[in-house]
Amino acid sequence: MAATETFSEKLLYEGKAKQIFKTASQGEILIRYKDSATAFNGEKKEIIAGKGRLNMAFTKHFFTLLENNGIKTHTVKYTDELSMIAKKVEIILLETIVRNYAAGSICKRLGYEKGVKFEEPVFEIFYKNDDLGDPLITQEEAVSKGLASAAEINIIKNQALAINEILSKYADSKSVTLVDFKLEFGRLPDGEIILADEISPDTCRFWKKGTTDSLDKDVFREAKGSLIESYTKLAGILGVEL
Ligand code: UDP
Repeated sequence: MAATETFSEKLLYEGKAKQIFKTASQGEILIRYKDSATAFNGEKKEIIAGKGRLNMAFTKHFFTLLENNGIKTHTVKYTDELSMIAKKVEIILLETIVRNYAAGSICKRLGYEKGVKFEEPVFEIFYKNDDLGDPLITQEEAVSKGLASAAEINIIKNQALAINEILSKYADSKSVTLVDFKLEFGRLPDGEIILADEISPDTCRFWKKGTTDSLDKDVFREAKGSLIESYTKLAGILGVEL
């Protein structure tokens, strides 16, 4: 199906992993997952056939789990294996990270050994700005730059920690460790803040329980094997319908 051609004149925005199209409804957009993989702020790039379908399936699975546990998301409906309709939100330019175990940038920045478990989940925000390389930002700096109000950051933090509880418990029940993840939130026209973007092995680190064996984008970042094989294996373990 030439879905891209069908929607090409209505393309609103193209990101590294997704395209956003206009729909007939003012308050809704269509999100289409792409087969591209990027890492290190776009320095490493590859087209990987089948990746878009996998990430769409993970997002559908996790967002449905969260909705069933009282978390509001931008989802309107899932349309096909690559696309979904979502509420149009103003994306808050903060990448929200929650960490349960040390991995990735926190190891480099603070000298943690990979795999150290944090006593309490660690909440961080990064300024979503490719030109600046998505730097870590304090809550006060985010407020003074006008990215979000203090009250909004508080809502985001509470939501992110609640999401962590739900996803960690779920992963644990399937013998998988949720190491860390990134969330993006958006503002509805009435100011309400809801979860947007995606939740997939592109945006989370998952390890086989009791190990630091990656079942996520680190396989691609660190060239440790086939991304499709790892994501498909993870989908099987987590019960994600493909
Ligand atoms: N992450 C993401 N997009 C980004 C940066 C990070 O989805 O632009 C996710 C990443 O996959 C990991 C978590 O957020 O699950 C924490 O990433 P970290 O800060 O350790 O940075 P990284 O090691 O990915 O550079």
